[in-house]
Amino acid sequence: LNEEELRAQEALLKERKEQILSNLDNSKKELDGLNGVEIRDEADFASINSDKIREDAISQQQRQELNEISYALSKIENSTYGICEMCEEDVGRERIKVKPHAKYCIVCREIVEKSKQ
Ligand SMILES: [Zn+2]
Repeated sequence: LNEEELRAQEALLKERKEQILSNLDNSKKELDGLNGVEIRDEADFASINSDKIREDAISQQQRQELNEISYALSKIENSTYGICEMCEEDVGRERIKVKPHAKYCIVCREIVEKSKQ
């Protein structure tokens, strides 16, 4: 990636980060709202509970993505961004644009995915 593309990726990552932060903030407010709801019967309780579980799962996913974004931003800082962590080849311009916080090139990604199973 050239300097210009790097800055574009940085902007993209920062934008995504802001978006997630505000999402997390909103879902926290929503949950606080749920906590204030008076529970009248079992059905209320069940629906509030499943809302909470769903929100938790979403928050967790977003926190994970937030970590990956922060990590990608730190790699931009120390000029290792866009380089595969396994084979040290370029991750690939197209791939990095689709997935700005990609750690591996497409080949290594498949190896990592397979070894996880
Ligand atoms: Zn690789």
